[in-house]
Amino acid sequence: MAKVQVLDEHIANQIAAGEVVERPSSVVKELVENAIDAGSTRVDVHVEEGGLMSIRVVDNGEGIHPDDVETAFYRHATSKITHGRDLFQITSLGFRGEALPSIAAVSKVELLTSDAEDGQARRIVIEGGRLQTHEDAAGRRGTDFTVKELFYNTPARLKYMKTIQTELGHISDVMYRMAMSHPEIAFTLRHNGNTLLQTMGNGDLLQVIAAIYGTSAAKSMLQLEAESLDYRIGGFVSLPEWTRSNRNAMSTIINGRFVRNYGLNQAILKAYHTLLPINRYPLVVMQLEMHPSLVDVNVHPAKLEVRFSKEQELYAFVEESVKELLQRQVLIPKVVKQS
Ligand code: ADP
Ligand code: MG
Repeated sequence: MAKVQVLDEHIANQIAAGEVVERPSSVVKELVENAIDAGSTRVDVHVEEGGLMSIRVVDNGEGIHPDDVETAFYRHATSKITHGRDLFQITSLGFRGEALPSIAAVSKVELLTSDAEDGQARRIVIEGGRLQTHEDAAGRRGTDFTVKELFYNTPARLKYMKTIQTELGHISDVMYRMAMSHPEIAFTLRHNGNTLLQTMGNGDLLQVIAAIYGTSAAKSMLQLEAESLDYRIGGFVSLPEWTRSNRNAMSTIINGRFVRNYGLNQAILKAYHTLLPINRYPLVVMQLEMHPSLVDVNVHPAKLEVRFSKEQELYAFVEESVKELLQRQVLIPKVVKQS
């Protein structure tokens, strides 16, 4: 007797949720990425109790068409790519169509969205992946997404959540990365009503750095600017005097996406070479731009890792650009003050 059967959508979503939704910060990341992809200029995030009780993301983006609201929660449903070849040309943060079904499978979701200026919106409520309500409602253009009681129906996962402070720390990190990747968007993060991050959205990356790391850190930054045939590099790196004890403050952003890449970090550290004390790391917010075909973001569901098609060239370019900047700024002999 044949025993193999295709799992129903509900179970499949719960399985996928295990990969996409690791903790509250993963929900924040996915929802904010969707808001960015929707062309928002404002994104407000409110979380309660480290996101374990509720996460709400309000954007002023293009909204979801009434006919798409339910479809958006289907697995592999996306408006961002259509063809296999699009995978080599990704310009949006999302493309896998996994976030909404995964989040909805393990929480209680309420979505209010409108793609028009007429005050007409759609409201949908889904609990544990099951549709509860789908109705007309009043609402402005944009999307207002609330996720309550994350992991309420997966107690084994819930048990692994850490303290509210730890979860909040992860959420703040996600928001910092989003803000650094998109200085042209005004972000706020509120926790239990307290504002933890607020950016202006005026495109000034240095202001965002000041909001995250403080004004004195921002003052120690040197502006990067270089271009090669394939790559453009921008952002800021700190003077070697201003260092930190871990590499968490080395952020690399590729085409508007925060990524973790060991090789890029090593290239930057090589550029500092002997300028850094041992076991100290610079503050870096590096923005790289390249043709989407030069970077593969389809490596892992969280899309934090990427692969480069010409990785050695890229690393060499990064090292060279940072080194040149540091040499210009640091090695210029300082005038000795006479007392
Ligand atoms: P992906 O982002 O990979 O396309 P998601 O599951 O995150 O998949 O979202 C599914 C679809 O729902 C998106 O492709 C988009 O069309 C729509 N969507 C989700 N969130 C928003 C939002 N905040 N504003 C507009 N559209 C959205
Ligand atoms: Mg998405």
